[in-house]
Amino acid sequence: SANNEARGNDRAIGFSFEFFPPKKPEAEASWWRSVQALSAYSPEFVSVTYGAGATSQAPTYAAVKRLVDETDLVTASHLTVVKATSGEVDDVIRRFRDAGIRRFVALRGDPPGGIGTAYSPHPGGYSNAAALVSALKTIGDFDISVSAYPEKHPESADRTGDIAMLKAKADNGADRALTQFFFDNDVFEDYLNDVRRAGITIPVVPGIMPIQNIKQLKNFAARCGANVPAFVDSRFEGLDDDLPGQFEAAADLAAEQVLDLQRRGLSDFHFYTMNRSKLQIAVLDRLGIMPDDTQIGAAPERLRA
Ligand code: FAD
Repeated sequence: SANNEARGNDRAIGFSFEFFPPKKPEAEASWWRSVQALSAYSPEFVSVTYGAGATSQAPTYAAVKRLVDETDLVTASHLTVVKATSGEVDDVIRRFRDAGIRRFVALRGDPPGGIGTAYSPHPGGYSNAAALVSALKTIGDFDISVSAYPEKHPESADRTGDIAMLKAKADNGADRALTQFFFDNDVFEDYLNDVRRAGITIPVVPGIMPIQNIKQLKNFAARCGANVPAFVDSRFEGLDDDLPGQFEAAADLAAEQVLDLQRRGLSDFHFYTMNRSKLQIAVLDRLGIMPDDTQIGAAPERLRA
């Protein structure tokens, strides 16, 4: 199906890991340990998020540069158009390209005033993510991912308008969409049907958020328009003072969600790691996915030699 991407290995499942760029030296060390621990699982690619405006470029650039220089992970850089002229964005794209980046996650970004405020594009900037996809296409032969919102973006009046934006991004050359996290697979399936009905054929890869902390997640989800259903909440009931119990519940939940999506025909997944490897590995473990050195016959070329 349109959602099954060709893979360089013989696994039935493909996955990518999202990180955010560490800003402090202490965070850098623990981020790198997570990268190393997770790289043993041969993700299709890893991605690094990007903030708003010129100041956000430095940490993302440093992180993707290190990934390109010191690992053989396929690395994608997120990119936003907030608070920047189109010329500035083009310069960033060329700089990242010159550092070896061939993949981008092209985003508009959140309103400069913060989530919940009205978005106004920079007067000399790209107006939205669809315009950024076109700009990337003009500059290089990049692999381009874009966002998708199974529960619609908070700024969208309705799903139809929301899917129209995804269509514009696909029409301009996006290779795949990565979704905002969600927990209700019925909602996702319904959304995917509407996406296909709208004539959008690119893969739509479910974004999976293993829950590091249910309270923080609920605050965050409310801001980005993602629903935390009661069945998720109830899995953490009575576990307020039980960190190992929370960890087990979170790993079980994410693995169950992926298995159910696999039963529905999905085969590629984008994991929000929050720069933490332990919970992510527990999820992979429950899915029967082992690190390469223990996966006999399924190791990538570089480890077979
Ligand atoms: P678009 O695709 O341009 O628009 C998103 C939706 O908003 C559309 O469906 C559209 O219908 C609606 N919309 C947009 N403008 C309007 C308008 N004026 N009126 C009505 N509806 C409107 N943010 C970061 O800052 N850095 C990151 O690295 C980052 N990574 C992300 C990765 C993924 C996989 C996802 C899903 C999101 C990420 N975000 C990131 C968040 C994203 O920047 C915000 O959700 C932002 O508000 C929208 O950006 P977009 O590219 O999704 O926008």
